[in-house]
Amino acid sequence: MADVSEECPPSVSRWTAPESSLLGAFDPVLFRRNSEAVAARLESHLADRSVRGLDLADPGVLAQAARALMTTERESIAAFDEKRLAAIVDLYVRTGIQVHSPGYMGRQFSGTVPLAGVIDFVGSVVSQPSSYYEAGQLPITAERIMAEELNRFIGWDPGRFAMVTTSGGSLANLTALLAARNRAYPDIWACGEHGGRGLPAIAVSEEVHYSVTRAAGVLGIGEKRIVRLPVDPDGRIAVHRVPAVLAAAERRGLEVFCLVASAGTTALGAFDPIDELAGIAAEGGIWLHVDGAHGASLLVSDVLRHKLRGIEKADSLTWDAHKLMFVPAPCTMLFYRDARDAPEAFGRGAASYVLDEEPDAHCALDSGDKNLECTKRPMIMPLWALWAVYGRALFAQKIEQLCQTAHEAHRILLDEPDFEVLHEPEANILCFRYRPEGIAAERVHRLQLRIRKQVRLAGRFFISKVDVQGTAALRVVFMNHQINAEHFRMLLAEIRSTGQRLLRGDLPA
Ligand SMILES: *Cc1c(COP(=O)(O)O)cnc(C)c1O
Repeated sequence: MADVSEECPPSVSRWTAPESSLLGAFDPVLFRRNSEAVAARLESHLADRSVRGLDLADPGVLAQAARALMTTERESIAAFDEKRLAAIVDLYVRTGIQVHSPGYMGRQFSGTVPLAGVIDFVGSVVSQPSSYYEAGQLPITAERIMAEELNRFIGWDPGRFAMVTTSGGSLANLTALLAARNRAYPDIWACGEHGGRGLPAIAVSEEVHYSVTRAAGVLGIGEKRIVRLPVDPDGRIAVHRVPAVLAAAERRGLEVFCLVASAGTTALGAFDPIDELAGIAAEGGIWLHVDGAHGASLLVSDVLRHKLRGIEKADSLTWDAHKLMFVPAPCTMLFYRDARDAPEAFGRGAASYVLDEEPDAHCALDSGDKNLECTKRPMIMPLWALWAVYGRALFAQKIEQLCQTAHEAHRILLDEPDFEVLHEPEANILCFRYRPEGIAAERVHRLQLRIRKQVRLAGRFFISKVDVQGTAALRVVFMNHQINAEHFRMLLAEIRSTGQRLLRGDLPA
């Protein structure tokens, strides 16, 4: 026998086995037991159809409750505590907006299709981040398949378009603006000089999402170089006024390189006339970006697709699947009509440890050079799995149901004289005001804000608020197909009684 000391130099012999408590935290049997226990709790959560909104906790009280759940062990790994886990899950579920309840009518993120959560859970366990093929083979393959599936509804050349996933629509908008800017000013990435005729500017709707104007700030475009396009009373860009606004901008020394249209504005869910705007953009050699974070999903419905007429003429499209595709957030897809534009967003600059010096067929599938993130969640997986298992109809049916619900709610509102109807809903968003006869105009704004707060506090319904033409409005976003006319009437009754009490001064200011 060879001398052991020769085979194992002292440095290797110190390689000790992990402590049993460390091994315990990775124990597969324990994992399964915990998963089953948590799934059972979530089952009861999903089965609870009661009308409820948000139980808004006092931050101090909640922090105390959360701290009470923490182990006091500091020096060694604490023994696993089943009760602690159950309490953490319960607190998590209880303190959230109750997105699976019909009382949830307030935001654009969804109560997810439960199967999407199951796949997300797999992703969290197998940990396959998706920017590089070697790390996320199936996620990257699924991205390609979903891109092809959804591009059938966009209508771009299948051999030329590209799609990257980003952590949210805000980042997709920033990425698209970068790509547009870099195409317009090829030297800007390397030299920082735009070298254009005028100062780089973008044109956006007055109703554009703040992530777009924020992106302009990040790009150094500056607030003064954001050209605001006026909207009609329904919140869509007033196309006939656009040429004059662009001409005026040019006279001010601005060079608009990108025009942003919204497919579903955040406030009203209004769809800008993409087809007409595409004509104007093409004439001026301007990149047309469509922010479809909310409404691009309508493309999968045969009856609603027409809202995005002309989408095939856009240069890029932001599409949030965590809104109207009912998967966990974030899951955003940024589509480019021309794949060559995608890597330009980040000037093709990346580090040696991720970019292969000897590219092979696999590297071509990497998306790391096309998105800001390095490590990125395999966010496509829940979406692809739903698409694979249930098919397109699941999405089309649910979206159509939600838009129909908004339509019906609008009709109900028209019969309520003490409510002010602000628009005819184009999608699943409906804005209105509680405005009984005789109330002074200057009180309307605050009344809506206070109603919204009070309704949230009561905890039965969760709605949002938004300014419409400078005055606050109540905003309902239908994301839950369980909501029926009765629920909406209940909400109106609650708003009315809350409003009346506020007007009488029965509630604290
Ligand atoms: C929600 C939304 C965004 C922002 O998307 P996130 O995924 O929340 O970052 C951008 N634009 C529009 C029109 C939206 O509705």
